[in-house]
Amino acid sequence: TFGLFLLEPSDNVDVLVGDSGVGKSCIVLRFVRGQFDPTSKVTVGASFLSQTIALQDSTTVKFEIWDTAGQERYAALAPLYYRGAAVAVIVYDITSPESFTKAQYWVKELQKHGSPDIVMALVGNKADLQEKREVSVQDGIDYAEKNGMFFIETSAKTADNINQLFEEIAKRLPRPPP
Ligand code: GDP
Ligand code: MG
Repeated sequence: TFGLFLLEPSDNVDVLVGDSGVGKSCIVLRFVRGQFDPTSKVTVGASFLSQTIALQDSTTVKFEIWDTAGQERYAALAPLYYRGAAVAVIVYDITSPESFTKAQYWVKELQKHGSPDIVMALVGNKADLQEKREVSVQDGIDYAEKNGMFFIETSAKTADNINQLFEEIAKRLPRPPP
């Protein structure tokens, strides 16, 4: 069987990318449903979830999140997702230097193919696993700063910084004229 994706790149599909296993699906499920299930081999069936948040100035921002589950493999298709994205959340696992290297690959891809005013967030997830940490906070900060990205460490498990991540992104989005 051959799976063919027919995508209509839309200007409001945002992307969440990163190596397999870094916790992308868990971050989204924590944000959208407030849940973390350590036992589930998480596959978000629809690969697409949305959530609306209210900012302090009483404006609301709706997130439409495309979880590239498994499509890490279809690198050639990726520019279809990136093209119109306003936001890219690039996730690595603080216990995995390989995933940090891969995150840097995604940043370069997005700089090449994404829109010039894309808002990019670099996320070090699994911050609850301090004793297994192999990527320092400073390495994350330095790389993000060099590339004009917003940086945060999160834990989908404890919910640490998950809402803050999406709030910070929302604050940085260009606003439609009132
Ligand atoms: P994805 O492939 O990037 O979508 O990764 P998943 O969301 O499926 O998560 C991969 C594995 O990491 C799962 O076993 C999760 O339970 C685990 N995981 C995800 N986020 C966290 C976290 O913040 N802390 C810990 N300790 N484990 C996590
Ligand atoms: Mg996933």
